[in-house]
Amino acid sequence: MKSVAIIGGGITGLTAAFYLKRRGVTVTVYEATERVGGAIQSLSRDGYLAEFGPNTILETSPKITALVCDAGLAERRRDPDPKAEARYVVRYRRPIKMPGSPLGFFTTKLFTASAKWAVLREPFRPARRDGIEESIAEFVKRRLNQEFLDHAIDALVAGICAGDPQKLSVQQAFPKLAALEEKYGSLIKGQIFGAGERKRRGEVAKDRAPKFSFDDGLQVLPDTLRERLGPDVRLNATVTKLIQTVKSWLVDIRVGAQESRVEHSAVIYTGTAFRLAELGLASLQPLSLAPFGDIRYPPVASVVLGFRREDVAHPCQGFGMLIPKIEGFKILGTIFSSSLFPNRAPAGHLTLTSYVGGERYPELASLPPQDLFDLTCADLRVLLGVKGQPTFQHSVYWPKAIPQYNLGYGRLRDLMTEIEAKAAGLFFAGHYRDGISLGDCIVSGVNIVERVEKYLAAVTRNAPSLKSR
Ligand SMILES: Cc1cc2nc3c(=O)[nH]c(=O)nc-3n(C[C@H](O)[C@H](O)[C@H](O)COP(=O)(O)OP(=O)(O)OC[C@H]3O[C@@H](n4cnc5c(N)ncnc54)[C@H](O)[C@@H]3O)c2cc1C
Repeated sequence: MKSVAIIGGGITGLTAAFYLKRRGVTVTVYEATERVGGAIQSLSRDGYLAEFGPNTILETSPKITALVCDAGLAERRRDPDPKAEARYVVRYRRPIKMPGSPLGFFTTKLFTASAKWAVLREPFRPARRDGIEESIAEFVKRRLNQEFLDHAIDALVAGICAGDPQKLSVQQAFPKLAALEEKYGSLIKGQIFGAGERKRRGEVAKDRAPKFSFDDGLQVLPDTLRERLGPDVRLNATVTKLIQTVKSWLVDIRVGAQESRVEHSAVIYTGTAFRLAELGLASLQPLSLAPFGDIRYPPVASVVLGFRREDVAHPCQGFGMLIPKIEGFKILGTIFSSSLFPNRAPAGHLTLTSYVGGERYPELASLPPQDLFDLTCADLRVLLGVKGQPTFQHSVYWPKAIPQYNLGYGRLRDLMTEIEAKAAGLFFAGHYRDGISLGDCIVSGVNIVERVEKYLAAVTRNAPSLKSR
């Protein structure tokens, strides 16, 4: 009987386990903590529903839709209020609505005439196709201008991955953007001409993809997958070492003070990159897992505050606001959570979810909760006209929040492929390999199933000849 060890009970590991089990493969998910979901963490308290990790799933692939249906969650899915589409970017120390159409772009106060002119010129700028990795900052300055970097991309990057545009690799962190230049010679031309191709592949661009959550928040998804997997999920079980034998994998596990060893036919690693670097795997030499320890995960604090509706001057009607560093605020951005999903706050109240830290101000993320509430309230007073005391406050500190696909990340991804080729039966999937968004992680979990099944089938075919030797 073939069995697969899945290291990590985040969304990637649970998705892979769920589909492998449905196809009749024996699986065990080893999760180091006492809960499933990893970065997903929802809390219901005092009539508020708070999300401390991701807030929504972007439905960029039919595989995401299929998982929701296959897990029996179609009824519990919640789409955001259609009135909550507006996104704001802070400029001149106030939130300004992002334009939603080409006409809106040319009339918005968010950008000066020089930035608008840069967009008109973009299709005529020479394309670079030398394959050399470039930071998102250099890329934007080359194709557009400094103003776009300082007032839009810097804010966007902070909102997506709490990252630094000077360090993030455009090819690794935003491969679709880099591909537009590679293929069409221009971002604008690529947007127009690439739409048909995306449609044929059944994909939706991230800026157009529908978002969704569940009635009780995103935690519903990992909790349901865990229920479906039953005893195949082992909590408080940290994998400490892997040993490759001729025909199997030995997985060392620590539960409390107890150590044990379990044999599996294959292993999928869906944990974090920094824990991967700590796993012993002697047979890899001269390759090593140690370089994955270089992947930077900056700290982030998620600060969820509730207010009485009348204590907030801004309508907060929309998705939220992004804040570029140049505007001088401490928070990275705020999601208007109860505008997206009205059940996130009791009647007559609203919920605002802000983020502190990231690559911009890593030292702020570890402040004590009351300091985080105070600095967040101070920024929200200026930006949204908040007055009075919060009616709900809760924060979660993520010491290592989101991996940064910085310059040089391509080398680490190549190393993952090299290790997989050398260590047959070991597979890598999840946020440190296939993209950081929840949607990317779900697709990663679905795709790895196919590769693992092929491997198991090949091992089964070769088994008699191994025995006869
Ligand atoms: C604050 C924050 C906000 C975010 N916002 C969004 C958002 O709005 N939209 C979006 O799409 N994405 C967002 N993300 C990103 C997204 O949530 C994550 O990239 C995704 O959930 C990662 O899933 P995963 O399963 O790959 O990894 P994880 O969720 O990190 O799960 C990995 C699991 O592996 C376990 N593990 C690690 N090592 C071992 C070991 N040796 N043995 C056993 N278990 C181990 C860990 O305990 C963990 O539970 C956010 C992330 C954070 C932190």
